[in-house]
Amino acid sequence: MRHQIVSDDLRAPEMAEAVEKCVHCGFCLAACPTYNLLGEEMDSPRGRIYLMKNVLEENLPAAEAQPYIDRCLGCMACVPACPSGVEYGDLLVGYRALQEKQRQRPPLDALARKLICETLPYPRRFRLAALSGKLGKALLPVLPDAFASMLSLLPDKLPPARPLPAVLPAQGERRGKVALLLGCVQQVLAPEISHAAAQVLARNGVEVHMPRQQGCCGSILLHVGEEEQARDIARRNFGCIPADVDAIITTAAGCGSGMKDYELLFKGQADAARAAAFSHRVIDFSAYLARLGLRETTAGFSSQRRVVYQDACHLLHAQSHQSEPRALLNGIANLRLVEIADAGMCCGSAGTYNIDQPEIAAELSRRKVASILAAEPDLVVSGNIGCITQLRQEFARQNLTLPVAHIAEVLLQAAPA
Ligand code: SF4
Ligand code: SF4
Repeated sequence: MRHQIVSDDLRAPEMAEAVEKCVHCGFCLAACPTYNLLGEEMDSPRGRIYLMKNVLEENLPAAEAQPYIDRCLGCMACVPACPSGVEYGDLLVGYRALQEKQRQRPPLDALARKLICETLPYPRRFRLAALSGKLGKALLPVLPDAFASMLSLLPDKLPPARPLPAVLPAQGERRGKVALLLGCVQQVLAPEISHAAAQVLARNGVEVHMPRQQGCCGSILLHVGEEEQARDIARRNFGCIPADVDAIITTAAGCGSGMKDYELLFKGQADAARAAAFSHRVIDFSAYLARLGLRETTAGFSSQRRVVYQDACHLLHAQSHQSEPRALLNGIANLRLVEIADAGMCCGSAGTYNIDQPEIAAELSRRKVASILAAEPDLVVSGNIGCITQLRQEFARQNLTLPVAHIAEVLLQAAPA
């Protein structure tokens, strides 16, 4: 029987399909970080599907479901765990966007959220906010929770801005032509990642285009249900990314999975076809390189390193890239990859989750770091700035000096001189 989802939203059919496909078997429960942590049915994927269904069918006030939906990380660990093929992400993203239009937030909450949405996706504004936020850190003990968790995530020192050329030519015979998405937060917190990615690509015969007009991909906004703003800033990239590139490369997991969802985000919009064509060319850095094949034999490290690869949820669960980064790392001489327990569990970063739900995020980080330490690595590698930042903060909190690097940096470091 078709569920009676009461909504004129264009994505109602996808939401109804997700609800219909769920047979309540519970196979997804073990994969869900919040269910593992809180042990509540309503904090599991099955429970949340039930809640969203009842709100959408007008059988339950949205406010009753809200705390459980807010605690969902959007990590998508439940999607590959589901034997019925429930597209939980279609339901969650559509539901959050619908609710955001109607939701009345307390004034301080609304202000904190506005600040997040108006700064994080814009590198210049974020840089300014991060610099002024350092002053605000002195007020941490007296600030409301929403602001305190936001400020506590800012680093004490920002790296200097490092602009990249508009085009980095391929070295040797050209094997590809790509556009590199520089990201928003990443450009400010870790500009060295894009530099390393561009150099590794160029050294492997890929011409790398990095248009200066490019902006955020909108994923961070999509994650919190601000789809109109997400569309607006995504459109900026449609116009400036060259149409003839083989691929649009992302170096952050959330950017890749968010851009792959453009088809749904732009459903019914005038530029739907353009968004779909754009979206189909998006691929993660490690997946692209693994597919292309490294041209250089990596020189490797001078001494043995034990390395843990931290799977970002939006690479592992949302884009199914588990083997590609490992294959690249396994090709590096003197690098020994070691696996950790519960590798598929989120580290607590999850977009703005560590701002919205700091306690759960902190506990997930502690658990992740405990799993990592048990493997006794010399280095942790990830393909996502969110995980990298989260792990660095937790290591610093525990007075650990274990380095965390992006896979592009490790490939560059291991390349022949
Ligand atoms: S595994 Fe799939 S079908 Fe089973 S309860 Fe979870 S979402 Fe529903
Ligand atoms: S997205 Fe993650 S946190 Fe949310 S229900 Fe699925 S597994 Fe749980």
